[in-house]
Amino acid sequence: MSLNWAEVRNHNKMKNCIFCKIIKKEIPAKIHYEDKDIIVIKDANPKAPIHLLIIPKIHFKSLNEIKSKNQKLLGKLLLTAQKISRKEKFDQNGYKIIINTGENAGQSVEHLHLHLLSGDYKKSGQI
Ligand code: 5GP
Ligand code: ZN
Repeated sequence: MSLNWAEVRNHNKMKNCIFCKIIKKEIPAKIHYEDKDIIVIKDANPKAPIHLLIIPKIHFKSLNEIKSKNQKLLGKLLLTAQKISRKEKFDQNGYKIIINTGENAGQSVEHLHLHLLSGDYKKSGQI
């Protein structure tokens, strides 16, 4: 199988991507939930009492890379946040979802992810 240059570049980015490594279980993480499409882990540096990262298993650099054909996956990421909030019983208490997109918005890991925050999440202004 031969790859074109764009595919080679993408492959190299995935090889160095910390979330891809967590998905492949090459590095450890506290896994909260997992299925064939997504993994949910505890943030290593939590900014609220509950701080989970909802991550698609396919590597997208950011929300900017999402296309119409990915809308089902995008919907699943949001619904997963809602389901977790219900299961963990913080749906009525309130929660916040953040998707940092790009360096200027504070994105530090270049693999699309949703932050799900609850508890005293007012502190999460710095995310
Ligand atoms: P961003 O700044 O890109 O929106 O969010 C990245 C988040 O990933 C940060 O909140 C950071 O604490 C978290 N993070 C970075 N590296 C790791 C890691 O190796 N394991 C876990 N569980 N979280 C990480
Ligand atoms: Zn990745």
